[in-house]
Amino acid sequence: MTDSPAVDSPIYVTRPILPPLAEVMPYLEQIWSSRILSNGGPMLKRFEAELAAWMGVEHLSIQCNASISLVVALRHYGITGEVITSPFSFVATSHAIRWAGAEPVFADIQAGSMGLDPAAVEARITPRTQAIMAVHCYGIPCDTEGLADVARRHGLRLIYDAAHAFGVRVDGKPLVAEGDLSVLSFHATKVFNSFEGGAIVAPDLETKLALDRMGNYGIVDELTVTETGLNAKISELHAAMGLALLPHMDDALAARAAVAARYREGLAGVAGLDCLCPARDGHNSYAFPIRVGADYPLDRDGLYDRLRQDQIFARRYFYPLISDMPMYRDLASAAPQDLPVARDVADHILCLPIYPDLDPADQARIIGIIQRPVA
Ligand SMILES: *Cc1c(COP(=O)(O)O)cnc(C)c1O
Repeated sequence: MTDSPAVDSPIYVTRPILPPLAEVMPYLEQIWSSRILSNGGPMLKRFEAELAAWMGVEHLSIQCNASISLVVALRHYGITGEVITSPFSFVATSHAIRWAGAEPVFADIQAGSMGLDPAAVEARITPRTQAIMAVHCYGIPCDTEGLADVARRHGLRLIYDAAHAFGVRVDGKPLVAEGDLSVLSFHATKVFNSFEGGAIVAPDLETKLALDRMGNYGIVDELTVTETGLNAKISELHAAMGLALLPHMDDALAARAAVAARYREGLAGVAGLDCLCPARDGHNSYAFPIRVGADYPLDRDGLYDRLRQDQIFARRYFYPLISDMPMYRDLASAAPQDLPVARDVADHILCLPIYPDLDPADQARIIGIIQRPVA
């Protein structure tokens, strides 16, 4: 090999947090002594109760992952028509709509929140429209009032893909209480993880139990199956991982906020760069997206490549747009000229590494390269 060795170890865009192993062991001992491995056992019940209390919501159904929970949420309302959604998201958002048997219809986003634009949504409504599936991208709240208004006036369900929104509060209220249902992800790469996992925040107990049932094959009791449900169950092992991590989340969110503040300070004077996340209480600093504009010495891909040279793996979330992917690009609503804001954001965005234990020295190095990308 003639390549010069990397001087620094790679820095990825995110790194999962884990509870101390010693704090996991008592949970494992309980599982081993109960021999209950799944099917709504004691770990899941405790995880649901403690997570609901932590988040400040009353009812939620914890399931195996957010993708399946999005399908369960749509199936709960029997939605098989058109669902207006954002092209600026992780592919799972649109894939879930298709897996539920419905059809995604793309609408443009707002430049500020990077969430669905209520006016663009309204322009896409047809007699077949049944729901809006909006995304709180990077944990930045959508225009929840505007979307709720459109949904109410047109009799549509409003479901949030809140995969990025763990812990986000607006005026002290949990963002995941918005809409008919909100779906969280506890994947390893998210703010909070149970290795794999997800949850649907429900408005009442009856809905929570219906979501549980849809995620357990539609089984009511030994002799009664009332609907075409699926297996969305989370194991007791995964529930235990979530339970063990939950007490560390206040510290983890504070550490993320400190990393975000250091980026904001270090990048403040850099011409052509904008930090896109709000510096306000209640945000979760899930990601640190920047916009690489015309006044910066490199274009977005140039900066992405420059960082890679130093083993810093920033990511272009969410580029390409979902509406440009082969399974969606032929939809009428995927026409590029109708999604100008989403296209512009996707072409200029770069998400910098952020996680609670990002080493300040590593972060200083990242900031230094961005401040002076060319020698
Ligand atoms: C991660 C993610 C999902 C999927 O979550 P899983 O729990 O991995 O299935 C869905 N939507 C968005 C916006 C995501 O970022």
